[in-house]
Amino acid sequence: AYFMGCVPFLTGTAPCVVGCPAGVDVQGYVSLISEGKFQESIDLIREMNPLPYLCGRICTAQCALNCNRQHHDDPVAIRELKRFVSDYEAAHPNNSKIKPVKQTKEKVAVIGAGSGGLAAAYYLARMGYKPTIFEKGDKTGGVVRYGVPQYRLSDEALDHDVDFIKSMGVEIVLNKEFGANFTLEDIKKEGFEAVFIAVGLYVPKTLRLEGEDLPNALVAIDFLLDRKYGCAEDPEEFKGKTFGIIGGGAVAVDVGETAVRLGATKVDFVDILTEEALKNVLKDLHEAEREVMKYNFTTSTKNITQEPDGKLALNCYKIEWGEPDPETGRRPLNKVEGSDFKIVVDYVVTAIGQGLDMVPINTATDNKLKIERGKIVVDNLTYETTIPGVFSGGDIIFDSLMCAVDAIGDGREAAYSIDRYIRGVDLKEGRINKKD
Ligand SMILES: Cc1cc2nc3c(=O)[nH]c(=O)nc-3n(C[C@H](O)[C@H](O)[C@H](O)COP(=O)(O)OP(=O)(O)OC[C@H]3O[C@@H](n4cnc5c(N)ncnc54)[C@H](O)[C@@H]3O)c2cc1C
Ligand code: SF4
Repeated sequence: AYFMGCVPFLTGTAPCVVGCPAGVDVQGYVSLISEGKFQESIDLIREMNPLPYLCGRICTAQCALNCNRQHHDDPVAIRELKRFVSDYEAAHPNNSKIKPVKQTKEKVAVIGAGSGGLAAAYYLARMGYKPTIFEKGDKTGGVVRYGVPQYRLSDEALDHDVDFIKSMGVEIVLNKEFGANFTLEDIKKEGFEAVFIAVGLYVPKTLRLEGEDLPNALVAIDFLLDRKYGCAEDPEEFKGKTFGIIGGGAVAVDVGETAVRLGATKVDFVDILTEEALKNVLKDLHEAEREVMKYNFTTSTKNITQEPDGKLALNCYKIEWGEPDPETGRRPLNKVEGSDFKIVVDYVVTAIGQGLDMVPINTATDNKLKIERGKIVVDNLTYETTIPGVFSGGDIIFDSLMCAVDAIGDGREAAYSIDRYIRGVDLKEGRINKKD
C-alpha cells in the first residue's frame, strides 16, 4: 500500500502523516491492513493516537485533504480504514500486543477526561508514570461524549477507547472539579509532580445580536447536550419545524442533522465564510441532507426579530471579503448594498463556538495562570504554561478550528514534556514543532 511518490526524499514524511495533527503513521497502518494484520494495524495507530474508535468515526480527517490520491480520483479512505480496524478489534477483543508497563515513576495529575486529557494520561502511563485524571462530570470522553450525537459516535465505541486507556493503568476520578473541589496547591500537597490541564470550552459564544434572548433562540452546545443526556426527550418536539442556524461549521451541522432527525423539515445555515473555506465540513454532508439543509455562504446576520405569527426572522445581508490589511493581515467584511433578506423559521440556534470558563481555572491556580483572549497561554512546542510544571492543551489553548485529533496530539506532546520536566531534562532540545 505504500505509494512511494508520497514520501518526499528530503523529509521522509508522507503528506497524510504531515496532515494528521497526531502524526499517525497512516501509510504504516494502511499497509498492515493490506496484509491482513488488523490488530497490528490498530496497535500501530495507538503509538500516536490512543482514541482510534473515536477518530475512525468522527475525525475531521485532515490527513485526507493532503492525500495525493485525490489528484487521480478520491483520497484514500484513511478514517474509514481506522474505523474498520477498530470494528475488527471490537469483534476480536483482548489481542492487543500493547501491555501495561510497571508504574514505578511519579504521580501526575490530569484535569479533564476529554480527548486531550485521555491522550496525555495514556502516554504517561505507558512511560511508567502514575496518571490520575480528575473529571468534573460523571462521564469520561469530554465534549465528544456530551455533545456529539450518538448516530455519529456511540457511547459503546467511545467506551472501547476509554477502557483501553484505563487498562494501561490510568486512574479516573469522576465528579471532581478543579477549582470548586480542589486547587493546584492541593495537587502538590498530594504528591503530584506535574499537571496537565485540558478542561475544554463550554461557555457558548454568541454574536450579542438583538433578539438572541427571544423564546426559541437557542445556543448549539446546550441544544446538543439537552438532546443527548438532558431532559429533552419529546420525540415530536421538532416535527415539521424549521431552523435557522448562525454558523456553518461542524457543530452547526450536528445541530442541523439532529433537528432533521427529530422531524425538522428545513434548516438554513448562515455563515460569513465562503463555500471553499467550509469545504472540509461540506465534504461529509450527504446529497439528501443538502436538500433540506441549505447553506447561505458569505452571509452575515444583523439581528433576530419576531414575526406577527410568533416565528423568528433571521435578518441577513450578503458580504464580500476585502483584501487583507497589509499590517494586520485581517480581511475586512464589506456589506453588499441592497442585499438584505430575511429567513423566517421556528427556531434559531447560534453555533459559533464556545469559550473558556475562567472562574474555576483562576480559583484553582490563584490567578497565576496567564490567560489571553480567553485561551490559556502555553509554549507552543512544550505546552508548558506560565507556571512551571503545569502544562495545558486541547481546546483551551486553540485559536483556530478545534477538533479531537488536535487535542490528542497536544496531550501526547505534553506527556513527553512532563516526562522531561520530571527527569530534569531540557523541555525543548531536539524537538520540532509540528505546526511549523
Ligand atoms: C458539538 C460538537 C461536535 C464536535 N464534533 C467534532 C467532530 O466531529 N470531530 C472532531 O474531531 N472534533 C469535534 N468537535 C471538537 C472536539 O470535540 C474537541 O476539539 C475536543 O473534544 C477537545 O478535547 P479537550 O480534551 O480539549 O476538551 P473536552 O473534550 O471538552 O474535555 C474537557 C473535559 O474537562 C472537563 N472539565 C471541564 N472543567 C473542568 C474542571 N474545572 N475540573 C475537572 N474537569 C473539568 C469536562 O467535563 C470535559 O470532560 C466537536 C465539538 C463539539 C462541541
Ligand atoms: S487521526 Fe484523523 S487526521 Fe490522523 S490519520 Fe486518523 S483520520 Fe487522519
